[in-house]
Amino acid sequence: MAHAGIATRHGEAARQTVVMKFGGTSVADAERIKRAAQRIVQGREEGNRVVAVLSARGKTTDQLVAMAAEVSDRPDPRELDMLLSTGERISCALAAMVIKDLGHDAVSLTGSQAGIVTDTSHTKARILDVRADRIREAIEADKIVLVAGFQGVSTSADVTTLGRGGSDTTAVALAAALCADVCEIYTDVAGVYSADPRIVPEARKLGQVSFEEMLEMAASGAKVLQLRSVEYARNHGVRIHCRSSFEDGPGTFVLPEEETMERPLITAVTHSTDEARVTLTELPDEPGVAGRVMTVLADANVNVDMIIQNEPVLHGERQRADMSFTVPRSDVLPAREALAPLVEELGMGAVATDPSMGKVSLVGAGMKSHPGVAAKAFSVLGRAGVNIEMISTSPIKISCVVREEDVRRAVTELHSAFGLGEEAVRREDVSGDHRPVVASPRGGESVPSEVR
Ligand code: ADP
Ligand code: ASP
Ligand code: MG
Repeated sequence: MAHAGIATRHGEAARQTVVMKFGGTSVADAERIKRAAQRIVQGREEGNRVVAVLSARGKTTDQLVAMAAEVSDRPDPRELDMLLSTGERISCALAAMVIKDLGHDAVSLTGSQAGIVTDTSHTKARILDVRADRIREAIEADKIVLVAGFQGVSTSADVTTLGRGGSDTTAVALAAALCADVCEIYTDVAGVYSADPRIVPEARKLGQVSFEEMLEMAASGAKVLQLRSVEYARNHGVRIHCRSSFEDGPGTFVLPEEETMERPLITAVTHSTDEARVTLTELPDEPGVAGRVMTVLADANVNVDMIIQNEPVLHGERQRADMSFTVPRSDVLPAREALAPLVEELGMGAVATDPSMGKVSLVGAGMKSHPGVAAKAFSVLGRAGVNIEMISTSPIKISCVVREEDVRRAVTELHSAFGLGEEAVRREDVSGDHRPVVASPRGGESVPSEVR
C-alpha cells in the first residue's frame, strides 16, 4: 500500500517523500514553531523530500470563530472561510522564516497555491482534486514546502475550509497526490489511544489500528484524526503514522485490516460531548416522509448521526410517530431552519431540540461475532447510573447517546470494565492547557514531564 517515492535522476539512492503535519498545539508559540521547523529540517537532512502541513497556532481558529461571532449572529460562510484560513497561513509563513534561518530553502503556500481544489460547501468543503504541480516543482528545486492546512480553493475560485480538524485531511490528500511514503501526523499525544488520555489517564497507546476501526473511532469522536483524513487515506492507500511532536519513538500506524496483528475484542472507547438531539413529533407514518426529512437536512449540509423512530400510534385519523436523531451541536440552528417548512408541508407536530447530549462508543473489530459485548456495556452503564437515551450499532461499534454530564463517567467505567488500559502508559507533556494529564504508573498522581 505504501507508494514508492518520486523517481530519482542519475541512479541516486531513492529518497523518501514524507508529508509531516503539525497540529495547533505543536505550533502554539514561537518556541514550538522553532521545534516543528527543526523536526522538518531534520527530515530533510535525513535525505527526504519534505512537505509540511501546519495548523493554526494554539487556539487561533477558536479565536477567529469568536471574532466572527462578535460581529455577526450568522457569519456569511464565504467570509468566514476567508477569516478562518488566515490562521494556517500565519503558521506556515513563520515556520518558513525559521527554516530559512536554519539554512534551508523553504516556501510557504496557501491551500489554493498548493492546488487543493474543493467543492463549494463553505466551512465543510470536500477536496475534489489536488493539483500538486507547484509543490512538485518546489521539491525538485530542493525546497522544503510548507502548506497551510485546513483550506483550499473551490471550483468557483473562492477560499474554502475543510471543517474542524481539516489539516489532517490536507496532509493525507497531499501524501496521496505526491505518492508519499508516509504521512506523519505530529500531535500533542503519542498516538491513538484506547480512550482519550485527557479523560482516561490509564489509556493504552495502540501500536497499530486498522482503517476500519480508525474510521469508527474518528466518526464517534476520537478527534486525534479527522474522519475525512482516515477515509481519504483508506481510499488512496496512504500510510498514516500518528505520533508525538514532543518526543521521539513510534506512535500509531493506521493500516489495512489484513496488515494489523492486534485483534482485541474491544480496541477503544470513544466519546463526544457536542451532540444535540432533534425530535420531530407526530410525523405522519407514511412512505416517503423519512426520505423527505433527511433530504432537507442533507441539502442544508447537516450531518445526521443516530436516528430512531418510535412505534406509530393513532392520532385522530392518522398513524403518527415521533422521530429523533442526533446532529453536531453546531448544526442545530441550520437543522431547525431546514426543518421549519416541513411542519406545514407534512402536517407534523413541533420540532424539539435538546443541545446537551453526548455519546460514548465501544469500537473493536473483534466484537463482530460477540453479541455479549452490548449486554456487558449496557450493564456497566446501568451500574454507573448512566441512562442510555439512544443506541446504534455497526458490526464493529456500539454507540450510546447519554447526557453530556455523564460522558466522562461512562468512558472511564467502560474503559476499566473492558480492561483496555492494562499496559504501561506513556507519559505526556502536561504543561499546556490542551494537554492530557497522565497518571504516574506507580502512584496515580499527575506527573508533568518535560517537553523535549
Ligand atoms: P492537533 O491540534 O494536533 O490536530 P487534536 O486536538 O485535533 O490535535 O487531536 C489530539 C487530541 O485528541 C488529543 O489531545 C486527545 O485529547 C484527543 N483524543 C481523543 N480521543 C483520542 C484517542 N483515542 N487517542 C488519542 N487522542 C485522543
Ligand atoms: N485549525 C483548524 C482547527 O482548529 C484545522 C486543524 O487544526 O486541523 O480545526
Ligand atoms: Mg486535529
